[in-house]
Amino acid sequence: MQKVADLHVHTNISDGTFSPEKVVEYARMQGLDGIAITDHDTCAAIAPAMALAGDMNIEIIPGVELTAELYDDEIHILGYFIDWQDELFTKKLEEFCRVREERAKEILRRLGEQGIDLKYEDLMEIAGPGPGSVGRLHIAQLLYRKGKVACIRDAFTKYIGADSPAYVKKFKLSPKEAVDMIKSVGGVAALAHPKTINTDNKSLKDIVCMLAAEGIQAIEVYHSDHNAGDSAEFKKIADKYGLLITGGSDCHGLGKKEVLLGKIKVPYELVEKLRLSVGRTEIG
Ligand code: AMP
Ligand code: ZN
Ligand code: FE
Ligand code: FE
Repeated sequence: MQKVADLHVHTNISDGTFSPEKVVEYARMQGLDGIAITDHDTCAAIAPAMALAGDMNIEIIPGVELTAELYDDEIHILGYFIDWQDELFTKKLEEFCRVREERAKEILRRLGEQGIDLKYEDLMEIAGPGPGSVGRLHIAQLLYRKGKVACIRDAFTKYIGADSPAYVKKFKLSPKEAVDMIKSVGGVAALAHPKTINTDNKSLKDIVCMLAAEGIQAIEVYHSDHNAGDSAEFKKIADKYGLLITGGSDCHGLGKKEVLLGKIKVPYELVEKLRLSVGRTEIG
């Protein structure tokens, strides 16, 4: 049978709700042969996931999801097959997480100005203890739990989405800085969920062309937010600029409407192409 992988998965070390172990167990249930753990700004879930996955014959592809700034908006860049234990890389990610904490406090302060008082301790309870990254999805969950919004989407539309009153930007990495950071630890850099990119008055093609010139090597053609038409369009763009193709569910456990893990299954052939591109030889 064709081996398959889901190359975009979050754990509760960032803003998913499943522990690394639960993610691995769920992956087995979904019949996946490999998953990429791609938490926002942290690699702390990779070791516990690998510890369990080895026995189950599931490959954990070490990954990360970084945020970069493009035309005053954000894009996400995934890194695969990174040397996730690299000391300098780890230090940088720890600093990003620290900045995230400051940002979360600022978002709560701005929500306070909107008449919504939320406690940082309550947010930390949702985000979880230990190493990891706190983000807007946690704040959305807190707003929902406290009955301040009708659903998670509402939290973004009314309060914390871009252009909303309590929106606060993160640190500012340029796309090239994000790509270079991934390459500095031997990884391959992929543009995440191109559908979410605010193209303004530019074409997505031109943006991808520019990002390819800055070193992006792959594009997430398959994603749970893409319909067949979207994926066909992104596949064409990938072919035009000679980019590798990736795909993943972007599962956040129960953090989104449904558990998405395994909803996107890409053939292992794509995984091997990514692996080859970074000069790794083992066949997963
Ligand atoms: P942050 O990295 O803290 O800015 O948070 C980004 C997270 O918020 C990502 O996991 C997104 O999936 C999630 N997110 C962003 N916009 C929305 C939205 N409109 N509805 C639901 N989740 C969103
Ligand atoms: Zn997320
Ligand atoms: Fe993302
Ligand atoms: Fe993601």
